[in-house]
Amino acid sequence: MSDIQRVKEASDIVTIIGQHVSLQAAGGQYRGLCPFHSERSPSFFVSPVMQRYKCFGCGEHGDVYDFLEKYEGLTLHESLELLAEQAGIELQAYTPTKEDGEKQQILEVLDLAQQYYAFLLEKHAVGESARQYLKSRKISSASKKIFGIGASTPAWDGLLSYLHKKKKYSISLLVDAGLVISRNGHTYDRFRNRVMFPLTNHRGQIVGFSGRALPGTDGEDQAKYINSPETLVYHKSELLFGLSALFKEIRKANSVVVTEGEFDVIASTQANVNNCVAIKGSALTPQHARLLRRYVSTIILSLDTDSAGREATKKAISVITAEGKKHETQMELRVAVIPSGKDPADLVAHDPGAWRETVKTSVTAYDFLISTALKEYDVTSPSGKRQIMIDLAPVLQQVSHAVEREHYVNRLSKALGVSEQSIEQDLKRTIAQGLSPASNESKQTRKIESSSVLEQLERVTLFLLLHSPDEKRRERAEELLELPLETTSAPAVLKYIVKTEEQSLTSLRNKLPTDLASILAEWYLDDSQIENFDHVTSEKEWQQVLKKLQVRATNVQLSEISKELRELDLRLELSPEETARQAELLRKVVELQRALG
Ligand code: ATP
Ligand code: MN
Repeated sequence: MSDIQRVKEASDIVTIIGQHVSLQAAGGQYRGLCPFHSERSPSFFVSPVMQRYKCFGCGEHGDVYDFLEKYEGLTLHESLELLAEQAGIELQAYTPTKEDGEKQQILEVLDLAQQYYAFLLEKHAVGESARQYLKSRKISSASKKIFGIGASTPAWDGLLSYLHKKKKYSISLLVDAGLVISRNGHTYDRFRNRVMFPLTNHRGQIVGFSGRALPGTDGEDQAKYINSPETLVYHKSELLFGLSALFKEIRKANSVVVTEGEFDVIASTQANVNNCVAIKGSALTPQHARLLRRYVSTIILSLDTDSAGREATKKAISVITAEGKKHETQMELRVAVIPSGKDPADLVAHDPGAWRETVKTSVTAYDFLISTALKEYDVTSPSGKRQIMIDLAPVLQQVSHAVEREHYVNRLSKALGVSEQSIEQDLKRTIAQGLSPASNESKQTRKIESSSVLEQLERVTLFLLLHSPDEKRRERAEELLELPLETTSAPAVLKYIVKTEEQSLTSLRNKLPTDLASILAEWYLDDSQIENFDHVTSEKEWQQVLKKLQVRATNVQLSEISKELRELDLRLELSPEETARQAELLRKVVELQRALG
């Protein structure tokens, strides 16, 4: 047996997930608040029988390895090591990939680098100008500790000497870690004479650095900030400065303020707004949105207020909305609008209360977009009004809550000096023309709904089949195999159930090929059933759904027969074979109708 399987069988998914999520027993399952999206009532289920988890709110699902990969960001090898250690077994065949080994080493040198930079800032004479600079920006010593701030020396080989000469790490490792640059035969420190901010992933591991130039140095003219390059561990698009240091506060607040830069986050905490992260001057990515969904249900954007900043805010809104659609749960989106030309750090330095007030008086993303459009175009001219509607209609028609929608329609009607009806008309036309992605989606939903009654019936049936007593399952699977089912994967799984000797779910789960096993788990963990499932009444329920499916099968047969009969009816003359066929079909109809009762 492979290590992957051995370790999985020796581990218990409930215990592993239970280390991260508080789980309560519920029937044969465990349930808790989903760690992959923010919610108030638990829709995250872990099944000890299936050794799988599934969230019925956002759809995340998988086995213990999937969980560790998605939640903890672990590679397969890291998961194996962790689980093997917890289960007290030894890995046999699995040797770490080269990448795993190097990743570990990179994390190690980054950690040492942070200690080195922090030491220079705290204790060493070369840290003096950085100390002065941080003082001028009113950064407290508590902040220095919380964020692990440090300083790099003006020398070309400060860190290089420490890590290579003293600690004996290879140059190539330091290059791969992004700490050192090797070019044209010269090797030197990437970060020199800067205030150093460690960049951490959501697990709190240092994955890179961001260095801010000290004022009055060349660095400030060339690049005010220098960041680590992409490495095995640093991925710019996933990084949120402040997340790992502040995640407890962020989760507690159930909202997060997204700012541009490191100083904004740090200053914000000094003004006692502790639920804050920074995207470091880059665009907000889907990965950022996905990460934040785990912790909060409200995102408050506070990006620059110049025109580039407004564009960035608009893009961020659409990225977050798209991410919400994928998972069927929208986050609340707000914008904290700072007086122009300033950022949160400026605001705090001048007046901490003003920043608190800015966050408190954030507006909804829709109100922000309306304000922006009203500023951008001429509200008095007909073409300006049209432009504004072209801009806003696709956005506003997504607001499905009537009262909320009326609020925006009303605001626009006042601002443009036109009636609410004509604004509604424009919104409806946007839907009719399918101008927005949202309207395509609603068409799709409708299509799904029309066949959903049947699918729902089959889902209940398959759910009950799996929750049947072991000794009844095979016979029931046989009955189902006789019927035409819409669920495409059904026949394959049912056949396996019929031919498997030992009918316990654990054995079925282990006997089935992986893809079928995961379908089995899907059926077993069906969200719409699980909550009001009752073992006592399940026998009666089984008879009911089976009956319904049989009736449906009969009806399908009847409609096929009547189609054939109609065709025969249209003939002027029938051959003897056709006459015989007609009689046979009519007999069948009587028989089937009798069966229907
Ligand atoms: P400071 O307050 O230190 O002057 P800032 O936050 O006001 O910086 P901005 O120019 O508004 O600076 O940039 C916002 C953020 O973008 C910075 O905090 C930093 O994270 C990132 N950034 C700025 N300049 C660069 C650069 N040249 N390269 C990479 N990242 C940068
Ligand atoms: Mn600033």
